[in-house]
Amino acid sequence: MLKKCLIVMALAIAVSSCKKDSDVELQNEQKLSMDAELRASLPGNLNQMGANGAPLKVCVDKFTNSRPIILGEDDDDVSGRGVAVRGTKWPNGKTLRVYFINGGQIVRDNVMKFARRWANHANLHFVVTQNKAESDIRVGFKVNGDWGHWSWIGTDANEHKGEQTMNFGDLDRNSSDYDYGYYVLHEFGHAIGLGHEHLSPLANINWDKPAVYQYYMGPPNNWTRAQVNSNIFDKYKPREVRNTAYDTNSIMHYWIPNEFTTDNFSVDENAYLSDKDKIFIKRIYPG
Ligand SMILES: [Zn+2]
Repeated sequence: MLKKCLIVMALAIAVSSCKKDSDVELQNEQKLSMDAELRASLPGNLNQMGANGAPLKVCVDKFTNSRPIILGEDDDDVSGRGVAVRGTKWPNGKTLRVYFINGGQIVRDNVMKFARRWANHANLHFVVTQNKAESDIRVGFKVNGDWGHWSWIGTDANEHKGEQTMNFGDLDRNSSDYDYGYYVLHEFGHAIGLGHEHLSPLANINWDKPAVYQYYMGPPNNWTRAQVNSNIFDKYKPREVRNTAYDTNSIMHYWIPNEFTTDNFSVDENAYLSDKDKIFIKRIYPG
């Protein structure tokens, strides 16, 4: 709740302090310029924009009271730890019922196909249900024009009964298998309790913070500073999550262009489950 409140406050400040003087315009031009330069430097389909000028490759998680599990090898159980911490793990062996709010059959079938790749390594099952009331995960495609890719984390979906719990902004029947892997594996990773790998307590990324703020606070993302902090910089505390073997190959890692770091560190986009992803999810949901 704290993060949610912070963002609301930040938005209020942003709206109330909106100016149109030349300094602001210049700043915006610089942001746009950097955005264009950065995108031009990105490989392959990272250098693309969605239909609304939105980025194709950003996952914006829903803020949550709970703390997710992140990839790791510690056997401590995250659930029930600390007063403010609630687990997001589903019961082991659970069949997760997926309800589609919209989308054609081809898109739905592809989402299920890629979601089940997690089930190859976890004691979980995914089935489609036509009954929204009994569903566990409710998937929509660009609902109300939402270009974002997001999911509630694990059992937090139960707090949003009857509501959408996952959104895909850029998947359609013509999307490549690569894009289905990139988006579906990542969002369903969230849906079974995983957080972002770059927020691992053991990640020691030397961020070029001004560059990161400039990029994500500029169009088309237009995040607040608080959102950048939450999504990029605020690492989980070790006690909040399962401890980690930091894995840059994880499907749950953000891509990081070297422009975002001070030491030329970068992480390519990931569209496949890494070996550690597979091992870890098996430990969380053992068969
Ligand atoms: Zn994500």
